[in-house]
Amino acid sequence: MTSTAEVECPRCGQGPVRRFRVVVSQEELIVCDECDAAWSLGASASAGFVDLETGLRARGLKKGRDELTKSSLSAQEPGTSTTGLGVLLGGYLHQDWPYDYGTVWDGVQAFVTGEGMAQVLAARLDVRWLISRGLNENALRTVLVDELGTGYWPPGDGYTIFEWLDRLAVRLREAELPPTTLLQA
Ligand SMILES: [Zn+2]
Repeated sequence: MTSTAEVECPRCGQGPVRRFRVVVSQEELIVCDECDAAWSLGASASAGFVDLETGLRARGLKKGRDELTKSSLSAQEPGTSTTGLGVLLGGYLHQDWPYDYGTVWDGVQAFVTGEGMAQVLAARLDVRWLISRGLNENALRTVLVDELGTGYWPPGDGYTIFEWLDRLAVRLREAELPPTTLLQA
């Protein structure tokens, strides 16, 4: 069973995915608790999942989950501009986003297409975590605008920030990459 802060695995649809770091390299991975599918946050947009054991062995690591530590983001906490929601807000929905995209959702789709599944999963974890914290609008504004650098202002589209995050979570789930991309190793 997944709580509101959790994101289900797009491979098996069962387990929640979590963030980990490979201890020796600090590479950040998103791993399914249930089926061991793993996505690298450093991988190209077209990369699919690999089996965790296989992925670690390819890196010369043989001790399975013992090679991992929970991400410093405590598995879900956002606050970095270089992964997930930070990439979407700072890299796509930045100050000049209206010059690049017709609507904010076009910008979200460009993020999905351009960054791939690992970053989409990271963004979903960030959004679910933010929603689950019960922050007021001021606190949400601080995270999105001041910390993650977005120039998008949800009230301009008639949403509270909370409402927009809720819609964003749905959009990111629906905007997943085609199955062919998921199936490649
Ligand atoms: Zn899974």
